[in-house]
Amino acid sequence: LQAHLLQSQKLEGIGRLAGGVAHDFNNLLTVILGYCELLRMRQRGGTELEEINNAARRASQLTRQLLAFSRRQVLHVETLDLNTLIRGLHRMLRRIVGEDVGLTTHLAEEQLWVVADFGQLEQVLLNLVGNARDAMPAGGSLRIATRIIDRPVHAESSGRPSVELMIQDNGVGMAEEVRSRIFEPFFTTKGDAGTGLGLATVYGIVTQTGGEIECDSAPGAGTTFRVFLPLAQAQREPSAGASVSRHPAHG
Ligand code: ADP
Repeated sequence: LQAHLLQSQKLEGIGRLAGGVAHDFNNLLTVILGYCELLRMRQRGGTELEEINNAARRASQLTRQLLAFSRRQVLHVETLDLNTLIRGLHRMLRRIVGEDVGLTTHLAEEQLWVVADFGQLEQVLLNLVGNARDAMPAGGSLRIATRIIDRPVHAESSGRPSVELMIQDNGVGMAEEVRSRIFEPFFTTKGDAGTGLGLATVYGIVTQTGGEIECDSAPGAGTTFRVFLPLAQAQREPSAGASVSRHPAHG
């Protein structure tokens, strides 16, 4: 619990700092990209200009991710069915994993009610699936499964069952030195291609939603992520929900 608290406080601090910097930085990048575009239209600059343009685009992508990570988003928290969310994303997930990866889904028969922000849960899924794809450069198989398990998310909570979301790949896997650091902001093994913010964001969302996340991995064998969320009571009014402003960490 102490470690969770420290991690949350660290994330919040970094989030605030990064958000402030990213916002100003993004404005500057917009100017740089604007002038690049102007020079291109006048057909001046050649390959050097393309390099500048590419670097600025990458920087802009990074700042956008930083902003998404740090933003005090206005969330629409509602009771939603996780299976419906996954079904709705299926085509996009297929496109993300590409043709060399076999994607199978095993969804629980019953509806899996959770109290969460729809967009945030989509982000969790997209990040985990994107990472799995990156871990299988030569193809492989990805399994997404959901079920209800008969134990609460946190040992000390009210005893309600939980919803489990499992995302399993048979990719490169991770050594323990890597696995123990994956939720740290900016930790990446992907060099320039990574930001190290994907799993820090996932961690933030899952804990904010009252859940937990676990990761099992072995080099050469693959990786399994398990997300546990408290099972909620079914909602009679499908559109009921409230917009509340939440902070990344609430202890
Ligand atoms: P990024 O993807 O930008 O590196 P993440 O926070 O999403 O940032 O991931 C951090 C690191 O965790 C990755 O660089 C990678 O080393 C490791 N990782 C995450 N998911 C997997 C996976 N499914 N298989 C192997 N390694 C993974």
